[in-house]
Amino acid sequence: MSIVSRARPEIRELRPYASARAMAGLAPVTLNANENPWPASHDAGLNLNRYPDPQPARLVAAWAEALGAPPECLLVTRGSDEAIDLLVRAFCRAGLDAVAQCPPTFGMYAISARIQGAAVLDVPLLPGAFELDVDSVVTAALGNAVPLVFLCRPNNPTGGNFRVEQLTTLLEALKERSLVVVDEAYIDFCPSESVLELTASYENLAVLRTLSKAHALAGARCGALVAAPEVIDLLKRILPPYPLPTPTIAAAQAALQPEQLAAARRQAARLADARDALGRFLKSLPGVTQVWPSQANFVLLQVADGPALVRWLAERGVLVRDFNAMPGLDNCLRITAGSPPENARLMQLLEQWSK
Ligand SMILES: *Cc1c(COP(=O)(O)O)cnc(C)c1O
Repeated sequence: MSIVSRARPEIRELRPYASARAMAGLAPVTLNANENPWPASHDAGLNLNRYPDPQPARLVAAWAEALGAPPECLLVTRGSDEAIDLLVRAFCRAGLDAVAQCPPTFGMYAISARIQGAAVLDVPLLPGAFELDVDSVVTAALGNAVPLVFLCRPNNPTGGNFRVEQLTTLLEALKERSLVVVDEAYIDFCPSESVLELTASYENLAVLRTLSKAHALAGARCGALVAAPEVIDLLKRILPPYPLPTPTIAAAQAALQPEQLAAARRQAARLADARDALGRFLKSLPGVTQVWPSQANFVLLQVADGPALVRWLAERGVLVRDFNAMPGLDNCLRITAGSPPENARLMQLLEQWSK
């Protein structure tokens, strides 16, 4: 039985909207989409008068190659936020199903679930080191209608990771029951390898990637989902007709060229060094009560009065993220590793604050 059998029955039966652009490229004259035949004078060669290809083959091929995945296992989305939303809408029946997540974690899993009318089953990371509690995830998922389990690796905002064996234990236990979605938004800053290649052996694994972080394209809004072809086909049924703007496609294609990928790897290594330097510096400050080891491009720390420090920094022109309101993160804040002058300014202020 395929994991797709856990998806909403009405979605499994849906036929996707046949967009005009899906048929274009086959004929020199395209009069089937009510487009304007002339590019605007400010068009800059992008031909924005035409609708974009919903899943441009060149972009899909380039990304699939960069990830070492077959192109039929890849769906390109408007940021990973859209992939999360598509998964929840395809798999969760409103009022009946739940997604499981391991807080403190990325907020979009719960938001997408609530918008869809699905419940959110929290299986907290173990307090202290924020490690994944695999046994409790399995118990929660087997005891409820949980078609989706969201895991973030490295996790935002704690920066920690889980071991590949923990994931395979989970995938085995939840075979044919839950699609386990591993969000690898920060994997490029992380010394451990991606779990992407496990998608070839586990049909109930999906991996999220994004160009928003290490690839410096947060403004382009481009992400990818890697999963079994059946899952990709299912999500294509509910994909908006033209999800990717033409300028985004162009920017993403450029980012996936070998030289650009190499540059992104070098930059990610620099940011990882900056993150480690920031972590060491924070540990040396008397006012900092805890610093968690991070494998992403940020550091989570705790002080005596988190909101006060966030305000104090903001008044001096430095914005950091306040996590005090998130359960388990009392007085915690998250600081992103920035450019050398940004990091220097932050550290100078923190030194002043700690005195
Ligand atoms: C930043 C981030 C993303 C990226 O989302 P996009 O929509 O691709 O910009 C995904 N997951 C996590 C955990 C993030 O922190």
